[in-house]
Amino acid sequence: MNDSLSSSNLRVLITADEIEDAVHRLGAEVSERFSGRPLTIVGVLTGAVIFVADLIRSVRIPHRIGFVQASSYRGEATAPGALRIDEALLPDIAGRDVLLVDDIFDTGRTLERLVTALKRHGPARIVSAVLLWKEGRQEVHIEPDYFCFRIPNRFVVGYGLDYDDDYRHLPFVAELPAVGGEASESEGSR
Ligand code: 5GP
Ligand code: MG
Repeated sequence: MNDSLSSSNLRVLITADEIEDAVHRLGAEVSERFSGRPLTIVGVLTGAVIFVADLIRSVRIPHRIGFVQASSYRGEATAPGALRIDEALLPDIAGRDVLLVDDIFDTGRTLERLVTALKRHGPARIVSAVLLWKEGRQEVHIEPDYFCFRIPNRFVVGYGLDYDDDYRHLPFVAELPAVGGEASESEGSR
């Protein structure tokens, strides 16, 4: 049987209750910080889709939502870390405050590239929030403005994060021990 909800090779790192509490706290902070401002919350597809859906239900001020898709290509034919950004689902953010929401800050290259790309659309300011921040992996100077959890340098799945496009539906964040460091470079790419 291949039921990934009960799969015994998963080690839960962050429970659904812990995530819920952290997301509520973040929603309250966002509501206070952007009160009275024209806010657009921009989620990074696909990994941040569950985080964004929960977060916006804890945000108590008017806001719009939009999405961008960031796809990593780590195959042999492309440079390591090559990133394609699709802005087709991005609404007009000119003059607006943007809260950019991603699943995980690992090397930080994705967030750095996304901030640069969004700046071209003339927002008033860009503030970033991630669910997870992986320790000891950062390769860029920028850091997320908000994060919910610091995690050790392990490959994780659940709550939107995938391995080979599976496990996104898990309500918790879990370590997939079978996936070594090298495999994690080639999978879980969005
Ligand atoms: P960065 O550009 O910060 O190195 O990588 C960020 C992206 O890599 C994330 O948005 C996510 O798609 C992917 N990623 C990094 N670490 C993990 C992980 O542990 N699990 C999964 N599923 N994806 C990850
Ligand atoms: Mg991602």
